[in-house]
Amino acid sequence: MAALEFTRRYAMAHRLLATKSPKCAIPHGHNEFVTVRLAPASTFRFSDTNSAAPFEAIKRRWHQWIDEHVDHALHLGESDPLLGYFREHEPARLSQIMTFQGDPTTEALAACFWLKLSAFVANDGLPFTVSEVRIEETPTNTVIVTPENFDPAQCGLRASAWPWRADMSINDF
Ligand SMILES: [Zn+2]
Repeated sequence: MAALEFTRRYAMAHRLLATKSPKCAIPHGHNEFVTVRLAPASTFRFSDTNSAAPFEAIKRRWHQWIDEHVDHALHLGESDPLLGYFREHEPARLSQIMTFQGDPTTEALAACFWLKLSAFVANDGLPFTVSEVRIEETPTNTVIVTPENFDPAQCGLRASAWPWRADMSINDF
């Protein structure tokens, strides 16, 4: 089987507090592209269909999550006081807030995407593994996560956090 890549675009906003960059501490947005690469569990073999395992379902599920839950989300660290504001004054909007253990950086987002897509793949029992997640944050800045720089078992994200779950969640409210 050949490897597969999907790309999707979304808008997002975030701010970084722990990073201590005044420019990044004010809420601001990016239009980003995420490209995910799935590696097949086995090598390509000629057959009647000559096609990979049914990947349409996982592609549809991934893009549905991006379009309906990730697009236009506000990304905040779990200790950001803005969460308290939304809880108190605009609780209906909490579903559009993506939460992060630590600052909501693009690196953290790419790791969360990796875990979420892996959860979807495992939940569907598909013969693929996630082999790369790439986020183009700006036309001149791309973050790339691969098995060489990301190990889910060692990543330190608590087990109850939303990225591990094969559902549409983007937070743990
Ligand atoms: Zn930013």
